[in-house]
Amino acid sequence: MECIFCKIIAGEIPAVKVLDEDLVLAFMDINPSSQGHMLVVPKKHTENIFEISDGDLAAITSAVRRCAKAAKEALKAEGVTILQLNGRASDQIVPHLHVHIMPRWENDGLSVSQWEMKPGNMEEIKDIARKVQEHLS
Ligand SMILES: [Zn+2]
Repeated sequence: MECIFCKIIAGEIPAVKVLDEDLVLAFMDINPSSQGHMLVVPKKHTENIFEISDGDLAAITSAVRRCAKAAKEALKAEGVTILQLNGRASDQIVPHLHVHIMPRWENDGLSVSQWEMKPGNMEEIKDIARKVQEHLS
């Protein structure tokens, strides 16, 4: 299995985890497009929205809403972009379904779906993950 997200789920690649449940994992994006950018993935390898089971999709949707709410509160974000891509033609890079949660602020200049893949500050990313976790319900 060469899937990078499956390796993160299996613990073979380290990640800054925000939420770890039976069906779902949420972790910080280490190339963040915005402060607090995180990814929510099903633990069962599923390529896209067309393949995921209804049960996994329900679990993902619930986790996305909780993580988005927690990130908004923790970071005092003014908005949250939630983005999910299906297929190379849609700019999906990793072929394991993932939902991007991107906290947003007025005039932050972020171009959604095309952003520079630039490594973030890991200490800041870990600090944000802790803050978000404090707001998770
Ligand atoms: Zn996978």
